[in-house]
Amino acid sequence: MAESSVRTAYDSLNGDFVPGINPPSAQISSYWFIFCEEELLVFPDNEKDNLGATTIPKAIKPPSIAPATFETFQFLGWYREAPCYAGTITQKCVLPAGARFDKLRPLFGVLPEPLFAIAGMASQILYWERTHRYCGQCGSRTQYIPGQRATRCTKCGLDFYPRITPAVLVAVTKGDSLLLAWSARWTKSVYSVIAGFVEPGETLEQCAAREVMEETSISVQSVRYFASQPWPFPSQLMVAFTAEYKNGTIHVDNNELNEAAWFTRDNLPELPAPLSLSRILIDCWKQHPG
Ligand SMILES: [Zn+2]
Repeated sequence: MAESSVRTAYDSLNGDFVPGINPPSAQISSYWFIFCEEELLVFPDNEKDNLGATTIPKAIKPPSIAPATFETFQFLGWYREAPCYAGTITQKCVLPAGARFDKLRPLFGVLPEPLFAIAGMASQILYWERTHRYCGQCGSRTQYIPGQRATRCTKCGLDFYPRITPAVLVAVTKGDSLLLAWSARWTKSVYSVIAGFVEPGETLEQCAAREVMEETSISVQSVRYFASQPWPFPSQLMVAFTAEYKNGTIHVDNNELNEAAWFTRDNLPELPAPLSLSRILIDCWKQHPG
């Protein structure tokens, strides 16, 4: 497959977003990524056929959402020279005119790509902040370490950094066919590539081969890196690989999957949503036979 043709939403951030820890001292027009119960405050476009105009509040001050109060804001960095902040409110209140809260995942492909990518970063950092207020070792409060995206236990001194959970995707090819699987546990009835979480002590390539073996009883060779994509639900990093069939017959682990089969390009089932890394991986295989 031609990796050079791969592009994900996060590539659109290249050069336009500069991550940062310390906010500017002057108040200037900023993007405000405000979450409530894992939903993001957006201004949707009014015309249904022009969804790209959905956007994030941008103003000098955070949007007025009385009577909610913000505990803290996390400074994320700069997008096209505008500061970006993330914050959480705990209850839905009176929103600014035209604004609404939307689940983040359906905004994939609706919000402009760079803003979705920053919203994903915001979501992960807020999730980490929410789940690391207390030390996992001694139970005491943690507090921010100045100048770092990290907290430290006020009693035992243990440091905590935003947690990222790596998961692999594997496109296994056998001649002109691609191995795709379907699970009733997935939110949509689509067929996708084999996927799974990385375990302690293994490389990403070992994880890719192990997941294919565990879920389908197929052994693979020539496992190669393809591309990666942050997936903030809540804090995964998807790492995609290609691999070639080595030997074995498909035998599905029913704890993980309902069905797995070889598909040719002219006989594909329903696939994952565009822009997802699994779909990009499948599309790249479709476009590059041989
Ligand atoms: Zn501690």
